[in-house]
Amino acid sequence: MRSDRPPPSPAAHDPARPSDPDPAPLPGPGPARLIDPAPALLPDPAPASLADPGPTDRRQRHERWMRRALEIAVTGPEPPTGGPGDGTTQDDVPVGAVVYGPDGTELAVGRNERELTGDPTAHAEVLALRRAAARLGRWRMDDCTLVVTLEPCTMCAGALVLARISTVVFGAWEPKTGAAGSLWDVLRDRRLNHRPEVYAGVLETENAAVLRAFFR
Ligand SMILES: [Zn+2]
Repeated sequence: MRSDRPPPSPAAHDPARPSDPDPAPLPGPGPARLIDPAPALLPDPAPASLADPGPTDRRQRHERWMRRALEIAVTGPEPPTGGPGDGTTQDDVPVGAVVYGPDGTELAVGRNERELTGDPTAHAEVLALRRAAARLGRWRMDDCTLVVTLEPCTMCAGALVLARISTVVFGAWEPKTGAAGSLWDVLRDRRLNHRPEVYAGVLETENAAVLRAFFR
């Protein structure tokens, strides 16, 4: 069943639109917390500053995290050193992603490295997820948040669902390939048994400007 909400316009300036809060739990074999739409209700070991954020605190946190993702997009995780691909870091579309743990700890970062590594799957989100999973020693990230500067594509949205990520925060809309509301909405497809919370358009103007500058 399709949502009756129209797809979001890329031009809409809505810096912290939460996901549709609907999700009625689907019958399924998974543990209940897999389909719990309210991660804020889970036991929170976070320090007081992170516990029970109101909308304003949450938005400030998302913006702070997004600035870190933007930094990764622009500079990369480390100084460019070249790689097995033909390109350099400067050849890659500047997209950055960061995975945060439940207490706000930065677990891993990723920058789009498709040209650098010659790997069609080396998108920022996939790299950040792989590194975060390696650090955690597990594939399941149902207590983590991924922040990315650009709306995820179908591959990355699929990977985020498979990782059971609890929250996705993205910056600029990607009307040509976006799979978090533009062309598709893989992250909130009711046919799937895991649907992250999605916050779209965080620092949209800044993120879009970085991408425009790259393509100019
Ligand atoms: Zn992608």
